[in-house]
Amino acid sequence: EALANQIAAGEVVERPASVVKELVENSIDAKSTKITIIIETSGLKRIEVIDNGTGIEKSDVSMALKRHATSKIKDKTDLFRIRTLGFRGEAIPSIASVSDFTIETSVESESSGTKLIAKGGVIQKVEPTLKRQGTKISVENLFFNTPARLKYIKSLQAELSHITDIINRLSLAHPNIAFQLINNDHEFLKTSGSGDLKQVIAAIYGVVQAKKMRKIDTQDLDFEVSGYVSLPELTRSNPNYITLLVNGRYIKNFLLRKAVLEGYSNRIMVGRFPFAVISIHIDPQLTDVNVHPTKQEIRLSKEKELMALISKAIASTLLEGVL
Ligand code: ADP
Ligand code: MG
Repeated sequence: EALANQIAAGEVVERPASVVKELVENSIDAKSTKITIIIETSGLKRIEVIDNGTGIEKSDVSMALKRHATSKIKDKTDLFRIRTLGFRGEAIPSIASVSDFTIETSVESESSGTKLIAKGGVIQKVEPTLKRQGTKISVENLFFNTPARLKYIKSLQAELSHITDIINRLSLAHPNIAFQLINNDHEFLKTSGSGDLKQVIAAIYGVVQAKKMRKIDTQDLDFEVSGYVSLPELTRSNPNYITLLVNGRYIKNFLLRKAVLEGYSNRIMVGRFPFAVISIHIDPQLTDVNVHPTKQEIRLSKEKELMALISKAIASTLLEGVL
């Protein structure tokens, strides 16, 4: 079991940023409205995620460290209509197997909270603790028992930028959640949780950039597409400023990115990319996210139809800017 967890960790927890992603996604799944992420030394020394979500019941806390113990899927058919970000029950056991792991959590219905401490996936202690709404998870000394993994991490600066990238995308996906990211006492991001996507865009990319972005909002029988795209004058030399979200999940998809560019037709130069946050809502039955453990790749039905819808929405919004 311990070994199986470490092997799974190789797939799910590649680097500190993967830990941050999995923990924050759990906080989102737990219906949190406020999520604070505190890291030290780009996450290698410490990653702490504090949320105000539903928490975990006393009797379930130890279970969360067991592989494939997800509370989110009850039977096989659930796999085809996934609405939560997590569903594989792999992240917590994997992360715990390669770190000093502490979880403090409380649920509304219980009079005290629960604190669990594990080292390298082995539970050291489970005890009652003060009740406070939600869950706080600390991951310290990541990869202390997998030196090969640790060695593969070359630059703290690069790790930090992976982490900020993930928190930025999750904030864009969830404008109604107040996010705060702090590294070594320095605040990298703070969003208000007001629900206004434009405010999140301004917090991440700056007020000046946000002013140069226009709203898109369209739908057909299968898809709803909304978000913001930059005017053709605001571009970058890499596509990192394009965020594609499918049912609230950040995804990488070459064809959809191509559709975004097609929306600009020839109004931006080859090799330049706009800013865009495009949120797509689809019946989960038309998607398959269970392609890869990190769940960033996705299979979509009716991809052509969606591409056309995106390009058209962008083209008509940009046209309005001209008229
Ligand atoms: P998954 O998210 O795929 O279900 P994880 O290993 O990420 O699996 O988490 C295991 C379980 O622990 C979750 O199904 C959930 O019940 C519980 N859990 C983890 N983090 C939190 C949290 N922040 N708030 C509430 N429950 C949580
Ligand atoms: Mg999860």
